[in-house]
Amino acid sequence: MSFETQPLGAPRVPFSFELYPPRSESSEGALHETVRRLAAAGPDFLSVTYGAGGSTGGRSLDVLRFIREHTAVEPLAHLTCVGNTYAGAARLIREFLDAGILSFLALRGDPPAGQSEGFLGDLESAAQLVQLIDRVQAERAPYEEIPVPGNPGAVRVSPRRKVSIAVAAFPKGHPRAAHRTQDVEALLAKQAAGATFAITQLFFHPDDYSAFVERARAAGVTIPILPGIMPITSPARLARVLELTGEDLPSELAIALDVEPTPEGRREIGIEWAARLVRDVVADGAPGVHLYAFNQHDTVLTVLAEAGILPALRR
Ligand code: FAD
Repeated sequence: MSFETQPLGAPRVPFSFELYPPRSESSEGALHETVRRLAAAGPDFLSVTYGAGGSTGGRSLDVLRFIREHTAVEPLAHLTCVGNTYAGAARLIREFLDAGILSFLALRGDPPAGQSEGFLGDLESAAQLVQLIDRVQAERAPYEEIPVPGNPGAVRVSPRRKVSIAVAAFPKGHPRAAHRTQDVEALLAKQAAGATFAITQLFFHPDDYSAFVERARAAGVTIPILPGIMPITSPARLARVLELTGEDLPSELAIALDVEPTPEGRREIGIEWAARLVRDVVADGAPGVHLYAFNQHDTVLTVLAEAGILPALRR
């Protein structure tokens, strides 16, 4: 995956979407339809979250396989290492590589509620997971055998594609970081370990992103930093993300969502807020945008349409 800063007036802004594995069998069919609709828009990749401690492992891989087998879009697997042994994490990486997954978002993950930091396991940071992914892929044969269609038993030998490893970045600081520079230092460590790009935690103001990129660049971070943008379409969703991320309450958005009486109106507010963020960060030189899709295609595609990145949706 390659991201370059878009010159003004450039024809295409790279974009991608994040999904989570279905929570039940009944939501699987709906997710497949969402994948198809998102893939049809031509994203650079579709990423699938991974429950820390392996809680969604198999289901994450099923979604990634579906993307790989039914669309032309690159599947990107989130992987967490919290609570895992070194050997267990290596096994997991091999399982994903064997399934043909070549793009990862290497994360530390969080210990389950109530567990102490002692729960971390053998790998203590995402930087170590980046190194492990790199090492596991290096142990594999440098070529792969691809069946020749129409010629049973015949194979074509082709060099293996190198994995691409993304990492997380926190424009407003990780909620448990001791000081702001810790997050730039963590990003530098992840870059040194071999990360090829970063995706940010959601943020509410374009300056949060640009100030972070500026600090990261001044400290020596050179990898592309992709802004993560979430359309917030209800007060409940806003409360939930504030709880998860430790972000400050964006009062203007919170009030607008609170006073709007209809769900449609709240959805419009969330879309307009996210579209403005997309426009602003792209104008500020972001190498693309990554949208948290909440397993629905309509809202994120409308955000990109309103930001002028995609043509208006046909219904
Ligand atoms: P690291 O790179 O190891 O740490 C990053 C920063 O976190 C460090 O600078 C440090 O300042 C700070 N930090 C981390 N832990 C502590 C601590 N205990 N005390 C003090 N500072 C600390 N989680 C999932 O379980 N599954 C997912 O699929 C997932 N996807 C994500 C996608 C994105 C784009 C982002 C931004 C986050 C995602 N997360 C996911 C959450 C992530 O696992 C947590 O934020 C985790 O706490 C830190 O992971 P990391 O990879 O950034 O860790």
